[in-house]
Amino acid sequence: MATKAAYECPVCHEELEDGEQMEEHLLRTHPKKKLATFVATETVTREEEGVSE
Ligand SMILES: [Zn+2]
Repeated sequence: MATKAAYECPVCHEELEDGEQMEEHLLRTHPKKKLATFVATETVTREEEGVSE
């Protein structure tokens, strides 16, 4: 049986605690600079994947 789905932080792959908000975790755990780098990397990867199609 599948257990209750837990949210996983896309940046650090840590499971969020029950009731913890993703936004809350991101703001508290990760500095803005790290989040910006993560988003930029994700976006570039997607664009590169799109071009090869
Ligand atoms: Zn995290």
